[in-house]
Amino acid sequence: MGCICVNARPAVGCSRRDVKNQTGSYREMAQLFRLLCHPARLCILDAMRRREEVCVCHLQTVLKQRQPYISQQLRALKDAGVVDSRREGLYIYYRLSNPRVVQALDVMLGPAGQPRHHPECTCPQCRRE
Ligand SMILES: [Zn+2]
Repeated sequence: MGCICVNARPAVGCSRRDVKNQTGSYREMAQLFRLLCHPARLCILDAMRRREEVCVCHLQTVLKQRQPYISQQLRALKDAGVVDSRREGLYIYYRLSNPRVVQALDVMLGPAGQPRHHPECTCPQCRRE
């Protein structure tokens, strides 16, 4: 069977397994794009870029959405390995954990801006400002 890899040059070290692996990584990428193809998730990730890490209550203020909705989006991002979390007292902070996604966001959204000031936010970070 002929090689079906993207460079269409058979017999240059393209075993069937390579082709299969390549298709696998395309599939993974497509899943990642699907995950990112969502305004609320992009907004969450952008908030993380601006501030390194954010808690759920900050994201509630930024997105003007309720906690269950935010948690649902964060779970999807965490399951995909896009974000990571750490607990500090009562708060759980989320941060970007996939350098590839950070690069993709820089390309798609432009360089990360300054953290936005949210006077109405009651999260520990905003209270400190
Ligand atoms: Zn805040």
